[in-house]
Amino acid sequence: MLRMADPLGEPDASPLQGDAAAAKAEVGEALAFVADELGKRGEAAGGDAQAVLEAQALMAQDPSILDDVHAQIDSGVNAERAVYTAFKSFQDILAGMGGYMGERAADLGDVAQRIIARLRGVSAPGVPESDTPFVLVAHDLAPADTALLDLTKVLALVTRDGGPTSHTAILARAKGITAIVGVSEADKLSDGDVVVVDAAAGVVVTDPTAEQVADAEQRRVERLAAASAPLTPGTLKDGTLVPLLANLGSPKDAAAAVELGAEGVGLFRTEFLFLDAPYAPDVASQKASYKELLEAFPGKKVVVRALDAGADKPLPFLTDKNEENPALGRRGLRALRHHEEILRDQLTALAQADAETEADLWVMAPMVADLEETVYFVDLARELGIRTAGVMAEVPSLALMADQVLTSADFVSIGTNDLTQYTLAADRMLGTVAAYQDPWHPAVLRLVAQLGAAGKAAGKGVGICGEAASDPILAVVLVGLGATTLSMTPAALADVRAELLGHTLDEARAMAQAALAAPSAAAARAAVASVSSAS
Ligand code: PEP
Ligand code: MG
Repeated sequence: MLRMADPLGEPDASPLQGDAAAAKAEVGEALAFVADELGKRGEAAGGDAQAVLEAQALMAQDPSILDDVHAQIDSGVNAERAVYTAFKSFQDILAGMGGYMGERAADLGDVAQRIIARLRGVSAPGVPESDTPFVLVAHDLAPADTALLDLTKVLALVTRDGGPTSHTAILARAKGITAIVGVSEADKLSDGDVVVVDAAAGVVVTDPTAEQVADAEQRRVERLAAASAPLTPGTLKDGTLVPLLANLGSPKDAAAAVELGAEGVGLFRTEFLFLDAPYAPDVASQKASYKELLEAFPGKKVVVRALDAGADKPLPFLTDKNEENPALGRRGLRALRHHEEILRDQLTALAQADAETEADLWVMAPMVADLEETVYFVDLARELGIRTAGVMAEVPSLALMADQVLTSADFVSIGTNDLTQYTLAADRMLGTVAAYQDPWHPAVLRLVAQLGAAGKAAGKGVGICGEAASDPILAVVLVGLGATTLSMTPAALADVRAELLGHTLDEARAMAQAALAAPSAAAARAAVASVSSAS
């Protein structure tokens, strides 16, 4: 494994110790080293990345910046500080130009950090470079860093901070990277340690045995095979169909989901379209976005969620910023009900988009507590022209009242992220309670079982759209508990498709019973592992 080096602090302004000529020579060596390294990385990367890295290599050798560094050293400034201020003043000029040049300012900052790291004799900050694949360990990773990770190099990601449903984790999964977040012991790992990241068990094994390493290698090979397997519809070994759907946040992601074999959309998070909008979006602009989405799935089911504002997804026009405890506040359907005009506009836009496209549109409300709220939403949706209206099961009260809820709702979709957060009373964004945010907890699974049984009795669909559906073994357990569809980040589709093919419905049910009877999340995993290896 390799650690992500921490950002370097700003060099202090202490005076130059020793000889100016020696300091200049050191700077010269560091500049040449960094330029050479960037050039080599560019050659290895090729394509667009090569052009960017070669431009950075040239920046490291820019004669006017070097003149500035030398002048500062001559006036008694220490070498690190001289590099920092010289690059900073050029960076400010570029940033002031805006546009393409403005964007290069960050590249210049990166070059300066590399030179200072070389002068200090420490690793350059950011994702480490390596010729061979590695497990990346970090305190936390900014979404931008996560999005840029090189999939051919990073085998898995382990972070100390963040919960399993934090954005880093969701983004990593969206890129198909195995990630375990909120590992409090991650700081104890050092560069070069051999570790096995077992996402299925949710553990990082230190000092693994040769057998554990071989197992991990085998799993990697299986994942690669699953990724290139045919894109068949989701099916258990006995032929039971379990449609595999995609979780999307933008119509732009639809094409990639179709390519990965999504059989429709199980959760379209509409609030992602409006995260920066100061005002509620109007009907016409919403209709255009929904049409773009629906057009990508002719004849397929597309489940759109009404705006889920609040807590981790605040929307300025819907969210009360003064709540002390926003996860327990007026969020989801509660906020929409308080601003019914916004909900009416959204449902109207959806019905209009539906009328002009060929997809099978289903609409659901987030954060619904009981039958009364269900009836409110379903009646309003029908009044405004929505044909299929349902609710998400995220609040435990809804799961406990599922039989009643399904007398009104056409379907239920289980949001395991929030259902887990509320069942275990653990903020899903908080690394310190990440261990509680585990959908394998039998308490969560018992609620899923109750929802599954209610759906079966009512003859209505019970889908899963939380992150739990992207854990292949847990996905089988959820089917055993009565889930009729699974919706996930498209990158997870291949692994889940492959796992479903390995189990019959009876086996899935046996695995589910073993999990329900376990006393903890860890025990549920272990119990399921022993049942599934026996079958
Ligand atoms: C969930 O809570 O599981 C869910 C799917 O919704 P979100 O993650 O957007 O809150
Ligand atoms: Mg939710």
